[in-house]
Amino acid sequence: MTIQLHDTLQGKKVPFEPLEEGKVTMYLCGPTVYNFAHIGNARPAVVFDLLARILRRRYQLTFARNITDVDDKIIAASSETGKPIGEITAKFTKAYNDDMGALGVQPPDIEPHATQHIDVMIAMIQKLIDEGHAYAAEGHVLFDVASHEHYGELSKRDLREMIAGSRVEVAPYKKAAQDFVLWKPSDREMPGWDSPWGRGRPGWHIECSAMAEKHLGDTIDIHAGGQDLVFPHHENECAQSSCAHGGAPFARYWLHNGFLSIDETKMSKSLGNVLLVHDLIETIPGEVIRLALLSAHYRQPLDWSAETLAGARRQLDRLYGALRGIEISDAVRAAAEVPETLVAALEDDINTPKAMAEFFALARALNKSNDPAEMESLAAQMYAAGELLGLLDSDPEAWFAGDVKGDIASGEIEALIKKRDDARANKDWAAADGFRDQLTEMGITIEDGPGGTTWRRS
Ligand code: AMP
Ligand code: ZN
Repeated sequence: MTIQLHDTLQGKKVPFEPLEEGKVTMYLCGPTVYNFAHIGNARPAVVFDLLARILRRRYQLTFARNITDVDDKIIAASSETGKPIGEITAKFTKAYNDDMGALGVQPPDIEPHATQHIDVMIAMIQKLIDEGHAYAAEGHVLFDVASHEHYGELSKRDLREMIAGSRVEVAPYKKAAQDFVLWKPSDREMPGWDSPWGRGRPGWHIECSAMAEKHLGDTIDIHAGGQDLVFPHHENECAQSSCAHGGAPFARYWLHNGFLSIDETKMSKSLGNVLLVHDLIETIPGEVIRLALLSAHYRQPLDWSAETLAGARRQLDRLYGALRGIEISDAVRAAAEVPETLVAALEDDINTPKAMAEFFALARALNKSNDPAEMESLAAQMYAAGELLGLLDSDPEAWFAGDVKGDIASGEIEALIKKRDDARANKDWAAADGFRDQLTEMGITIEDGPGGTTWRRS
Protein backbone atom coordinates (compact mmCIF):
# COMPACT_ATOMS: atom_id res chain seq x y z
CA MET A 1 0.00 0.00 0.00
CA THR A 2 1.32 3.44 -0.83
CA ILE A 3 1.07 6.28 1.65
CA GLN A 4 -2.25 8.15 1.29
CA LEU A 5 -2.40 11.91 1.87
CA HIS A 6 -5.20 14.42 1.62
CA ASP A 7 -4.22 17.02 -0.96
CA THR A 8 -5.93 20.41 -0.61
CA LEU A 9 -5.56 21.16 -4.34
CA GLN A 10 -7.30 17.96 -5.44
CA GLY A 11 -9.66 18.18 -2.47
CA LYS A 12 -9.34 14.49 -1.63
CA LYS A 13 -7.14 11.76 -0.25
CA VAL A 14 -4.79 10.43 -2.91
CA PRO A 15 -1.89 7.95 -3.13
CA PHE A 16 1.43 9.68 -2.51
CA GLU A 17 4.10 9.39 -5.17
CA PRO A 18 7.22 11.52 -4.95
CA LEU A 19 8.65 13.23 -8.01
CA GLU A 20 11.89 11.32 -7.71
CA GLU A 21 11.81 7.67 -6.69
CA GLY A 22 13.01 7.06 -3.16
CA LYS A 23 13.35 10.75 -2.30
CA VAL A 24 10.91 13.23 -0.81
CA THR A 25 11.10 16.99 -0.35
CA MET A 26 8.84 18.69 2.19
CA TYR A 27 8.46 22.34 3.15
CA LEU A 28 6.58 23.57 6.22
CA CYS A 29 5.94 27.28 6.74
CA GLY A 30 7.71 28.05 9.98
CA PRO A 31 7.21 30.72 12.63
CA THR A 32 7.48 34.48 12.38
CA VAL A 33 9.84 35.02 15.27
CA TYR A 34 8.60 37.97 17.31
CA ASN A 35 6.90 36.18 20.22
CA PHE A 36 6.53 32.77 21.86
CA ALA A 37 4.67 30.03 19.98
CA HIS A 38 1.17 29.30 21.25
CA ILE A 39 -0.37 25.84 21.42
CA GLY A 40 -2.11 26.37 18.06
CA ASN A 41 1.26 27.08 16.41
CA ALA A 42 2.54 23.83 17.89
CA ARG A 43 -0.08 21.78 16.04
CA PRO A 44 1.49 21.99 12.55
CA ALA A 45 4.97 21.58 14.06
CA VAL A 46 3.98 18.34 15.83
CA VAL A 47 1.71 16.93 13.10
CA PHE A 48 4.23 17.46 10.30
CA ASP A 49 7.08 16.25 12.51
CA LEU A 50 5.10 13.03 12.71
CA LEU A 51 4.65 13.01 8.94
CA ALA A 52 8.41 13.47 8.54
CA ARG A 53 8.99 10.46 10.80
CA ILE A 54 6.48 8.39 8.78
CA LEU A 55 8.12 9.39 5.47
CA ARG A 56 11.64 8.66 6.72
CA ARG A 57 10.72 4.98 7.15
CA ARG A 58 10.39 4.65 3.38
CA TYR A 59 12.17 7.57 1.77
CA GLN A 60 15.20 9.76 1.94
CA LEU A 61 13.48 12.91 3.16
CA THR A 62 14.68 16.49 2.95
CA PHE A 63 12.49 18.52 5.27
CA ALA A 64 12.76 22.32 5.38
CA ARG A 65 10.99 24.50 7.94
CA ASN A 66 11.81 28.17 7.58
CA ILE A 67 12.25 31.01 10.01
CA THR A 68 10.52 34.25 8.99
CA ASP A 69 12.87 36.81 10.50
CA VAL A 70 11.86 39.83 8.45
CA ASP A 71 8.24 40.89 8.74
CA ASP A 72 6.23 43.96 9.70
CA LYS A 73 5.14 42.30 12.97
CA ILE A 74 8.80 41.97 13.95
CA ILE A 75 9.43 45.62 13.07
CA ALA A 76 6.43 46.59 15.23
CA ALA A 77 7.72 44.45 18.13
CA SER A 78 11.08 46.20 17.85
CA SER A 79 9.61 49.70 17.96
CA GLU A 80 7.32 48.75 20.86
CA THR A 81 10.09 47.28 23.00
CA GLY A 82 13.02 49.38 21.78
CA LYS A 83 15.00 46.15 21.27
CA PRO A 84 17.02 45.60 18.10
CA ILE A 85 15.37 43.31 15.54
CA GLY A 86 18.27 40.84 15.58
CA GLU A 87 17.93 40.42 19.33
CA ILE A 88 14.20 39.72 19.07
CA THR A 89 14.50 37.22 16.21
CA ALA A 90 17.45 35.38 17.80
CA LYS A 91 15.62 35.08 21.12
CA PHE A 92 12.37 33.76 19.64
CA THR A 93 14.03 31.45 17.11
CA LYS A 94 15.79 29.74 20.00
CA ALA A 95 12.64 29.71 22.12
CA TYR A 96 10.66 28.16 19.24
CA ASN A 97 13.19 25.39 18.73
CA ASP A 98 13.51 24.70 22.46
CA ASP A 99 9.75 24.66 22.99
CA MET A 100 9.06 22.42 19.99
CA GLY A 101 11.96 20.19 21.09
CA ALA A 102 10.19 19.76 24.44
CA LEU A 103 7.21 18.41 22.46
CA GLY A 104 9.42 15.84 20.75
CA VAL A 105 9.64 17.75 17.46
CA GLN A 106 12.86 16.78 15.71
CA PRO A 107 14.84 19.58 14.08
CA PRO A 108 14.15 19.85 10.33
CA ASP A 109 16.97 18.97 7.92
CA ILE A 110 17.14 22.59 6.78
CA GLU A 111 16.06 25.69 8.67
CA PRO A 112 16.43 28.55 6.19
CA HIS A 113 16.24 32.10 7.56
CA ALA A 114 14.53 34.64 5.30
CA THR A 115 17.16 37.34 5.91
CA GLN A 116 19.84 35.02 4.55
CA HIS A 117 18.01 34.55 1.24
CA ILE A 118 17.32 38.10 0.09
CA ASP A 119 19.44 37.60 -3.06
CA VAL A 120 17.38 34.55 -4.04
CA MET A 121 14.17 36.54 -3.51
CA ILE A 122 15.43 39.47 -5.61
CA ALA A 123 16.39 37.08 -8.42
CA MET A 124 12.96 35.44 -8.34
CA ILE A 125 11.16 38.80 -8.35
CA GLN A 126 13.28 39.96 -11.30
CA LYS A 127 12.38 36.79 -13.17
CA LEU A 128 8.68 37.37 -12.52
CA ILE A 129 9.00 40.92 -13.90
CA ASP A 130 10.91 39.66 -16.96
CA GLU A 131 8.25 37.03 -17.65
CA GLY A 132 5.42 39.57 -17.40
CA HIS A 133 3.99 38.32 -14.09
CA ALA A 134 5.02 41.28 -11.94
CA TYR A 135 5.50 45.03 -12.20
CA ALA A 136 7.45 47.66 -10.31
CA ALA A 137 5.72 50.82 -9.11
CA GLU A 138 6.79 53.48 -6.61
CA GLY A 139 9.45 51.36 -4.93
CA HIS A 140 7.09 48.38 -4.74
CA VAL A 141 6.96 45.28 -6.88
CA LEU A 142 3.56 43.63 -7.25
CA PHE A 143 2.50 40.28 -8.57
CA ASP A 144 0.06 40.70 -11.44
CA VAL A 145 -2.62 38.23 -10.43
CA ALA A 146 -4.48 38.52 -13.74
CA SER A 147 -1.38 37.17 -15.52
CA HIS A 148 -1.76 33.75 -13.89
CA GLU A 149 -4.70 31.76 -15.16
CA HIS A 150 -4.58 29.21 -12.33
CA TYR A 151 -4.83 31.80 -9.56
CA GLY A 152 -7.45 30.75 -6.99
CA GLU A 153 -7.30 27.01 -7.75
CA LEU A 154 -5.71 25.98 -4.46
CA SER A 155 -8.10 27.94 -2.25
CA LYS A 156 -11.03 27.34 -4.63
CA ARG A 157 -11.67 31.04 -5.03
CA ASP A 158 -12.98 32.64 -8.13
CA LEU A 159 -10.93 35.65 -9.14
CA ARG A 160 -13.92 37.56 -10.53
CA GLU A 161 -15.80 37.09 -7.26
CA MET A 162 -12.72 38.21 -5.36
CA ILE A 163 -12.52 41.40 -7.37
CA ALA A 164 -16.24 42.08 -7.01
CA GLY A 165 -16.06 41.42 -3.28
CA SER A 166 -13.05 43.58 -2.53
CA ARG A 167 -14.11 46.79 -0.87
CA VAL A 168 -10.70 47.86 0.32
CA GLU A 169 -9.29 51.06 -1.04
CA VAL A 170 -6.76 50.13 -3.69
CA ALA A 171 -3.26 51.50 -3.15
CA PRO A 172 -2.41 53.95 -5.97
CA TYR A 173 0.62 51.92 -7.13
CA LYS A 174 -1.50 48.78 -7.74
CA LYS A 175 -2.96 47.88 -11.13
CA ALA A 176 -5.63 45.75 -9.45
CA ALA A 177 -6.86 45.23 -5.90
CA GLN A 178 -5.90 41.55 -5.79
CA ASP A 179 -2.26 42.15 -6.81
CA PHE A 180 0.02 41.38 -3.90
CA VAL A 181 3.38 42.70 -2.78
CA LEU A 182 6.64 40.98 -3.67
CA TRP A 183 8.88 43.85 -2.57
CA LYS A 184 8.20 47.02 -0.60
CA PRO A 185 10.26 50.09 0.25
CA SER A 186 11.83 50.46 3.70
CA ASP A 187 12.37 53.79 5.37
CA ARG A 188 15.65 54.51 7.11
CA GLU A 189 14.69 52.97 10.47
CA MET A 190 13.38 49.78 8.91
CA PRO A 191 15.45 46.77 7.87
CA GLY A 192 16.15 47.02 4.16
CA TRP A 193 18.35 45.70 1.37
CA ASP A 194 19.46 47.32 -1.88
CA SER A 195 17.56 46.10 -4.89
CA PRO A 196 16.88 47.16 -8.50
CA TRP A 197 13.71 48.83 -7.11
CA GLY A 198 15.43 50.75 -4.34
CA ARG A 199 16.12 49.94 -0.72
CA GLY A 200 13.41 47.69 0.61
CA ARG A 201 12.35 44.33 1.98
CA PRO A 202 10.51 41.29 0.67
CA GLY A 203 6.83 40.47 1.13
CA TRP A 204 6.08 37.39 3.23
CA HIS A 205 4.91 35.11 0.41
CA ILE A 206 8.02 35.46 -1.77
CA GLU A 207 10.19 34.46 1.19
CA CYS A 208 8.83 30.91 1.22
CA SER A 209 8.83 30.55 -2.58
CA ALA A 210 12.49 31.57 -2.76
CA MET A 211 13.66 29.43 0.16
CA ALA A 212 11.80 26.38 -1.15
CA GLU A 213 13.34 26.85 -4.62
CA LYS A 214 16.85 27.28 -3.25
CA HIS A 215 16.82 24.25 -0.96
CA LEU A 216 14.29 21.84 -2.47
CA GLY A 217 14.06 22.70 -6.17
CA ASP A 218 11.37 24.05 -8.52
CA THR A 219 8.75 21.40 -7.71
CA ILE A 220 8.57 20.10 -4.17
CA ASP A 221 6.68 17.01 -3.10
CA ILE A 222 4.84 18.22 -0.01
CA HIS A 223 4.00 21.71 1.15
CA ALA A 224 2.39 21.95 4.58
CA GLY A 225 0.99 24.44 7.05
CA GLY A 226 -2.09 25.44 9.00
CA GLN A 227 -5.46 25.79 7.29
CA ASP A 228 -5.40 29.59 7.57
CA LEU A 229 -2.39 29.66 5.25
CA VAL A 230 -4.28 28.28 2.23
CA PHE A 231 -5.35 31.80 1.34
CA PRO A 232 -3.64 34.06 0.68
CA HIS A 233 -0.20 32.74 1.69
CA HIS A 234 -0.12 29.42 -0.16
CA GLU A 235 -2.22 30.60 -3.09
CA ASN A 236 0.33 33.39 -3.58
CA GLU A 237 3.37 31.17 -3.04
CA CYS A 238 1.92 28.79 -5.60
CA ALA A 239 1.36 31.58 -8.16
CA GLN A 240 4.86 33.04 -7.73
CA SER A 241 6.72 29.75 -7.86
CA SER A 242 4.86 28.26 -10.75
CA CYS A 243 5.13 31.48 -12.80
CA ALA A 244 8.86 31.75 -12.02
CA HIS A 245 9.38 28.16 -13.15
CA GLY A 246 7.67 28.23 -16.53
CA GLY A 247 4.40 26.80 -15.21
CA ALA A 248 5.93 23.81 -13.38
CA PRO A 249 3.77 22.84 -10.40
CA PHE A 250 5.07 24.22 -7.12
CA ALA A 251 4.00 21.41 -4.81
CA ARG A 252 2.67 17.97 -5.72
CA TYR A 253 0.69 17.65 -2.45
CA TRP A 254 -0.66 20.41 -0.21
CA LEU A 255 -1.37 19.45 3.40
CA HIS A 256 -3.19 21.64 5.90
CA ASN A 257 -3.96 21.08 9.55
CA GLY A 258 -7.23 22.11 11.19
CA PHE A 259 -7.46 24.79 13.82
CA LEU A 260 -7.10 24.47 17.55
CA SER A 261 -9.58 26.24 19.83
CA ILE A 262 -9.53 26.67 23.59
CA ASP A 263 -12.63 25.56 25.50
CA GLU A 264 -14.63 25.93 22.26
CA THR A 265 -13.39 29.49 21.81
CA LYS A 266 -11.00 30.96 19.27
CA MET A 267 -7.66 31.74 20.84
CA SER A 268 -7.05 35.46 20.84
CA LYS A 269 -5.05 38.05 22.69
CA SER A 270 -8.10 40.17 23.38
CA LEU A 271 -9.85 37.25 25.12
CA GLY A 272 -6.70 36.54 27.12
CA ASN A 273 -6.88 32.81 26.35
CA VAL A 274 -3.61 32.41 24.46
CA LEU A 275 -1.73 29.42 25.85
CA LEU A 276 2.01 29.55 25.23
CA VAL A 277 3.92 26.31 24.85
CA HIS A 278 6.71 27.96 26.82
CA ASP A 279 4.42 28.20 29.88
CA LEU A 280 2.65 24.88 29.44
CA ILE A 281 5.86 22.86 29.48
CA GLU A 282 6.66 24.28 32.92
CA THR A 283 3.91 22.20 34.50
CA ILE A 284 2.98 19.53 31.96
CA PRO A 285 5.30 16.89 30.50
CA GLY A 286 5.96 17.55 26.80
CA GLU A 287 4.75 14.06 25.89
CA VAL A 288 1.32 14.78 27.36
CA ILE A 289 1.04 17.94 25.25
CA ARG A 290 2.27 16.10 22.14
CA LEU A 291 -0.23 13.28 22.57
CA ALA A 292 -3.04 15.78 23.23
CA LEU A 293 -2.13 17.54 19.96
CA LEU A 294 -2.23 14.22 18.12
CA SER A 295 -5.47 13.08 19.76
CA ALA A 296 -7.69 14.35 16.93
CA HIS A 297 -7.10 13.69 13.24
CA TYR A 298 -4.89 16.52 11.99
CA ARG A 299 -7.43 17.87 9.50
CA GLN A 300 -10.19 18.06 12.12
CA PRO A 301 -10.60 20.94 14.53
CA LEU A 302 -9.09 20.25 17.94
CA ASP A 303 -10.57 21.71 21.07
CA TRP A 304 -8.08 22.17 23.88
CA SER A 305 -9.39 21.86 27.43
CA ALA A 306 -8.37 20.48 30.80
CA GLU A 307 -10.00 17.22 29.69
CA THR A 308 -7.86 17.03 26.50
CA LEU A 309 -4.75 17.09 28.68
CA ALA A 310 -6.15 14.81 31.36
CA GLY A 311 -7.13 12.30 28.66
CA ALA A 312 -3.64 12.35 27.15
CA ARG A 313 -2.09 11.84 30.56
CA ARG A 314 -4.36 8.90 31.33
CA GLN A 315 -3.40 7.33 28.02
CA LEU A 316 0.30 7.74 28.72
CA ASP A 317 -0.21 6.34 32.23
CA ARG A 318 -1.75 3.25 30.63
CA LEU A 319 1.10 2.84 28.14
CA TYR A 320 3.82 3.38 30.73
CA GLY A 321 1.89 1.21 33.19
CA ALA A 322 2.04 -1.73 30.78
CA LEU A 323 5.79 -1.29 30.39
CA ARG A 324 6.57 -1.02 34.08
CA GLY A 325 9.09 -3.53 35.39
CA ILE A 326 9.73 -5.22 32.05
CA GLU A 327 13.36 -5.77 31.14
CA ILE A 328 14.19 -5.75 27.44
CA SER A 329 17.48 -7.02 26.07
CA ASP A 330 19.32 -4.89 23.50
CA ALA A 331 18.89 -7.64 20.90
CA VAL A 332 15.10 -7.82 21.33
CA ARG A 333 14.84 -4.04 21.29
CA ALA A 334 16.90 -3.74 18.12
CA ALA A 335 14.85 -6.44 16.36
CA ALA A 336 11.46 -4.99 17.31
CA GLU A 337 9.25 -3.62 14.54
CA VAL A 338 6.30 -1.27 14.78
CA PRO A 339 3.17 -3.40 14.18
CA GLU A 340 1.99 -3.20 10.58
CA THR A 341 -1.55 -2.17 11.59
CA LEU A 342 -0.18 0.87 13.43
CA VAL A 343 2.05 1.87 10.51
CA ALA A 344 -0.88 1.40 8.12
CA ALA A 345 -3.01 3.79 10.21
CA LEU A 346 -0.32 6.46 10.13
CA GLU A 347 0.28 5.96 6.41
CA ASP A 348 -3.43 6.48 5.85
CA ASP A 349 -3.34 10.28 5.93
CA ILE A 350 -1.75 10.35 9.42
CA ASN A 351 -4.71 8.70 11.15
CA THR A 352 -3.50 9.22 14.71
CA PRO A 353 -6.75 8.20 16.49
CA LYS A 354 -6.59 4.82 14.72
CA ALA A 355 -2.84 4.52 15.38
CA MET A 356 -3.40 5.14 19.09
CA ALA A 357 -6.13 2.47 19.17
CA GLU A 358 -3.55 0.05 17.73
CA PHE A 359 -1.05 1.22 20.34
CA PHE A 360 -3.51 0.36 23.11
CA ALA A 361 -4.20 -3.04 21.57
CA LEU A 362 -0.49 -3.71 22.00
CA ALA A 363 -0.56 -2.52 25.63
CA ARG A 364 -3.61 -4.72 26.33
CA ALA A 365 -1.88 -7.77 24.84
CA LEU A 366 1.13 -7.05 27.03
CA ASN A 367 -1.02 -6.67 30.16
CA LYS A 368 -2.70 -10.01 29.45
CA SER A 369 0.41 -12.01 28.68
CA ASN A 370 2.17 -14.22 31.22
CA ASP A 371 4.86 -15.43 28.85
CA PRO A 372 8.10 -13.54 29.61
CA ALA A 373 9.48 -13.83 26.05
CA GLU A 374 6.21 -12.60 24.57
CA MET A 375 6.03 -9.78 27.11
CA GLU A 376 9.55 -8.68 26.26
CA SER A 377 8.77 -8.69 22.55
CA LEU A 378 5.50 -6.77 22.98
CA ALA A 379 7.18 -4.19 25.20
CA ALA A 380 9.93 -3.74 22.60
CA GLN A 381 7.26 -3.24 19.92
CA MET A 382 5.66 -0.60 22.11
CA TYR A 383 8.93 1.29 22.36
CA ALA A 384 9.39 1.03 18.58
CA ALA A 385 5.89 2.46 18.09
CA GLY A 386 6.68 5.17 20.65
CA GLU A 387 9.79 6.13 18.72
CA LEU A 388 7.78 6.52 15.53
CA LEU A 389 5.12 8.63 17.23
CA GLY A 390 7.61 10.60 19.34
CA LEU A 391 6.21 9.17 22.60
CA LEU A 392 7.43 6.94 25.47
CA ASP A 393 10.70 8.79 25.73
CA SER A 394 10.83 8.49 29.52
CA ASP A 395 11.62 5.64 31.83
CA PRO A 396 8.34 4.17 33.21
CA GLU A 397 9.54 4.41 36.80
CA ALA A 398 10.55 8.05 36.33
CA TRP A 399 7.15 8.67 34.73
CA PHE A 400 5.24 7.42 37.74
CA ALA A 401 7.64 9.01 40.22
CA GLY A 402 6.91 12.36 38.56
CA ASP A 403 10.58 12.77 37.69
CA VAL A 404 9.75 13.81 34.15
CA LYS A 405 10.44 17.44 33.29
CA GLY A 406 7.38 19.56 33.82
CA ASP A 407 5.84 17.09 36.26
CA ILE A 408 5.16 17.59 39.92
CA ALA A 409 7.39 15.22 41.86
CA SER A 410 5.57 12.57 43.83
CA GLY A 411 7.64 13.50 46.92
CA GLU A 412 5.97 16.89 46.93
CA ILE A 413 2.53 15.29 46.67
CA GLU A 414 3.21 12.82 49.44
CA ALA A 415 4.52 15.56 51.72
CA LEU A 416 1.22 17.44 51.30
CA ILE A 417 -0.79 14.26 51.98
CA LYS A 418 1.22 13.74 55.15
CA LYS A 419 0.51 17.32 56.26
CA ARG A 420 -3.20 16.73 55.62
CA ASP A 421 -3.13 13.47 57.59
CA ASP A 422 -1.43 15.26 60.50
CA ALA A 423 -4.02 18.06 60.38
CA ARG A 424 -6.83 15.49 60.43
CA ALA A 425 -5.23 13.69 63.34
CA ASN A 426 -5.27 17.03 65.18
CA LYS A 427 -8.89 17.59 64.10
CA ASP A 428 -7.79 20.76 62.30
CA TRP A 429 -10.35 20.28 59.52
CA ALA A 430 -9.83 23.70 57.94
CA ALA A 431 -6.11 23.07 57.49
CA ALA A 432 -6.82 19.55 56.16
CA ASP A 433 -9.24 20.96 53.60
CA GLY A 434 -6.64 23.58 52.61
CA PHE A 435 -4.11 20.85 51.81
CA ARG A 436 -6.70 18.94 49.81
CA ASP A 437 -7.48 22.10 47.80
CA GLN A 438 -3.79 22.61 47.16
CA LEU A 439 -3.55 19.06 45.80
CA THR A 440 -6.65 19.53 43.64
CA GLU A 441 -5.09 22.63 42.13
CA MET A 442 -2.02 20.56 41.27
CA GLY A 443 -4.28 18.13 39.42
CA ILE A 444 -4.10 15.46 42.15
CA THR A 445 -7.14 13.54 43.36
CA ILE A 446 -6.91 11.86 46.75
CA GLU A 447 -9.02 9.08 48.18
CA ASP A 448 -9.21 8.01 51.80
CA GLY A 449 -9.50 4.25 52.19
CA PRO A 450 -9.01 1.67 54.91
CA GLY A 451 -5.33 1.35 53.99
CA GLY A 452 -4.70 5.12 54.18
CA THR A 453 -4.82 7.87 51.59
CA THR A 454 -4.05 7.10 47.96
CA TRP A 455 -3.54 9.63 45.17
CA ARG A 456 -3.73 9.81 41.42
CA ARG A 457 -3.25 12.48 38.83
CA SER A 458 -6.65 13.66 37.64
P1 AMP B 1 1.94 32.12 12.29
O1 AMP B 1 3.17 32.34 13.12
O2 AMP B 1 0.75 32.89 12.75
O3 AMP B 1 2.22 32.25 10.81
O4 AMP B 1 1.52 30.61 12.52
C1 AMP B 1 2.43 29.54 12.42
C2 AMP B 1 1.70 28.28 12.07
O5 AMP B 1 0.71 27.97 13.08
C3 AMP B 1 0.94 28.34 10.76
O6 AMP B 1 1.09 27.11 10.09
C4 AMP B 1 -0.50 28.54 11.19
O7 AMP B 1 -1.39 28.05 10.25
C5 AMP B 1 -0.55 27.72 12.46
N1 AMP B 1 -1.61 28.13 13.41
C6 AMP B 1 -1.81 29.36 13.92
N2 AMP B 1 -2.86 29.36 14.78
C7 AMP B 1 -3.33 28.08 14.82
C8 AMP B 1 -4.39 27.42 15.54
N3 AMP B 1 -5.17 28.06 16.41
N4 AMP B 1 -4.57 26.11 15.31
C9 AMP B 1 -3.79 25.42 14.45
N5 AMP B 1 -2.77 25.97 13.75
C10 AMP B 1 -2.53 27.29 13.93
ZN1 ZN C 1 5.15 29.94 3.68
